[in-house]
Amino acid sequence: MKTTIYLIATIMIVTMVACNETKKEEAGDFKWQTEQFADLRILRYQIPGWDELTLKQKELVYYLSQAALCGRDITLNQNYRNNLLVRKTLEAIYQNYKGDRTTEEFNNLATYMKRVWFSNGIHHHYSTDKFYPEVSTDYFSILLSGVPADQLPLKEGQTQEEFTEEITTIIFDPTVAPKRISLDPATDVVKASACNFYDGVTQKEVEDFYTQKKIADAKAGRDTRISYGLNSKLVKKEGKVTEIVWKLDGMYHPAIEKILYWLEKAATVTETPEQKAALDKLIEFYKTGDLVAFDDYSILWLADQNSDIDFINGFIETYGDPLSMKATWESVVNFKDKKATERTITIADNAQYFEDNSPVDPEFKKKEVKGVTAKVITVAQLGGDCDPTTPIGINLPNADWIRKDHGSKSVTMENITYAYNQSSLGNGFLEEFAASPEEIKRQREFGFQAGNLTTDMHECLGHAAGQLLPGTSPDAMKTYQSALEEARADLFALYYIMDPKLIELGLIPSLEVGKSEYDSYIRNGYLTQLVRIQPGKNIEQAHMRDRKLIATWCYEQGKDDNIIELFEKDGKTYIRVNDYDGLRNLFGELLKKIQKIKSEGNYEAGKELVETYGVKVDQELHNEMLERYKALNISPYGGFINPVLTPKYQDDVLVDILVTYPDDFTEQMLSYSKEFSYLPARCKND
Ligand code: ZN
Repeated sequence: MKTTIYLIATIMIVTMVACNETKKEEAGDFKWQTEQFADLRILRYQIPGWDELTLKQKELVYYLSQAALCGRDITLNQNYRNNLLVRKTLEAIYQNYKGDRTTEEFNNLATYMKRVWFSNGIHHHYSTDKFYPEVSTDYFSILLSGVPADQLPLKEGQTQEEFTEEITTIIFDPTVAPKRISLDPATDVVKASACNFYDGVTQKEVEDFYTQKKIADAKAGRDTRISYGLNSKLVKKEGKVTEIVWKLDGMYHPAIEKILYWLEKAATVTETPEQKAALDKLIEFYKTGDLVAFDDYSILWLADQNSDIDFINGFIETYGDPLSMKATWESVVNFKDKKATERTITIADNAQYFEDNSPVDPEFKKKEVKGVTAKVITVAQLGGDCDPTTPIGINLPNADWIRKDHGSKSVTMENITYAYNQSSLGNGFLEEFAASPEEIKRQREFGFQAGNLTTDMHECLGHAAGQLLPGTSPDAMKTYQSALEEARADLFALYYIMDPKLIELGLIPSLEVGKSEYDSYIRNGYLTQLVRIQPGKNIEQAHMRDRKLIATWCYEQGKDDNIIELFEKDGKTYIRVNDYDGLRNLFGELLKKIQKIKSEGNYEAGKELVETYGVKVDQELHNEMLERYKALNISPYGGFINPVLTPKYQDDVLVDILVTYPDDFTEQMLSYSKEFSYLPARCKND
């Protein structure tokens, strides 16, 4: 599971806190944002603490970072089968077109290319809707005719005219692959989704295939706890439903071979035996594709607690599949931020206190909370589905049985949240939407700390808290599952961010931290997150539903006591918290309610709650937010340029690895396409 940008408002604030003093000094005149286009902005992040790593640690990070870059093409191909064809065509135009490059149309095509890089394909990374270049098909043909045929990904025997027709249809035709992931329950979601996890099979055939497979495994005495379908494409071959596995000598072989090359180098410079064992098992998994090996790897990865360096590399998250079975390739390479990790250790060590004292009914609480580990990390490389857009928190592994028996690792990516925060300095967002100067002041002073602490508690306490009654299915909430689960985790963190116990534990200097979180959470949930929604649409995304549900429910419930107040000033709508203790009680009440719904598997009650408070958008308020936001000229979605790691040799001996921070997104994307593109434009299915 991953946490994406936690709150627009929390991230976009002007702030500096004590625990980040060292980073502040390094920040200097660093350019955090390099450009913005469409609804996207390009940011940079730094790697503070790099020089404190030993040479061997740097070497390990370097090898892992190269492995992280080698899977980029896999992610594109998984998102949609023609993504590589489109990307390579656009790059060929951009690099070969000799006509006028200063026109608006050429610039629009370049913007489209950047959007394709940003989204790892032709569908918006967040809404998953197909997006289009703002150029005419005639102009597109002119551009293509200016590119030598040998620079274009033509099929064998295909003329350039035929190719132009093919690629134009793929890019411009709104009936071709309109949505990457369709969740419309009225359709066959497998057929309706453009993602490349299935070919020629229906939703029913997919479901039947895995049900049968599980039955056969059980009969044969094989492990049935595995994550079925995680690392394969399901296709129909000669009338038979067949899995094509992503592994060495399987689908994606050329990229996986390169990933393995770097992972095997990494295995020679590990820090601890536990780290080595985990890495060796991952290598085995890539070679065999055996899902039992993947589970073994996850358990070994959890056991590696003492290494500083850590990484994710593989088929991990299943958000990209409408059936949540197939995992998209991703990588994050990182090392522990030891100072900041003291904070998460304190939280994890007191997990039982938080569970015991939560407002949840006793029968739904965990008697014994175990296996909660959490750390703050510094990211050194993003890859695949985590690049250029990245989560800010991750909690893995995803397999329920492993989480229950072995626990989970939870991380907060603080150099990323820091970069988001820095890049928003002075953009006017907080000033526009905050209800008062006191709120702004509090936010500047405590907002960054509050945001990080809330993410820590959301990940390592919230998701780990509570238990289902025996017999309740973990999938009982169906399509409302994600929104309710995120709400549960948010409420747990919100309830405790105002607990005096946090002062006692040394986690916060005063309850002002909690107050600033309450201000920004309510402001975001009720007002500002609406700027991410297209006019006329309702809220679909799980995290956004969760925040809307919480803010609206608390507003409605606290109306009589004026706990939260909506008011107008100079024709603009604002929201403010009048009673912080009262709001804390409401958070507690809602947490209790949602935990009961989940524990009992009460689908109807869950549906009612989400549909009533979490989905519908007030059109008038929405329009107002969009207008005020537009005036600020800020793009709502951020993605990152990676730092570059370069080995330095003296007489063939490695003496250091140097970090540089490039600032040209186009250059970085083109260099990745040149140096790390291992899959053909037209991937075969086997
Ligand atoms: Zn979460």
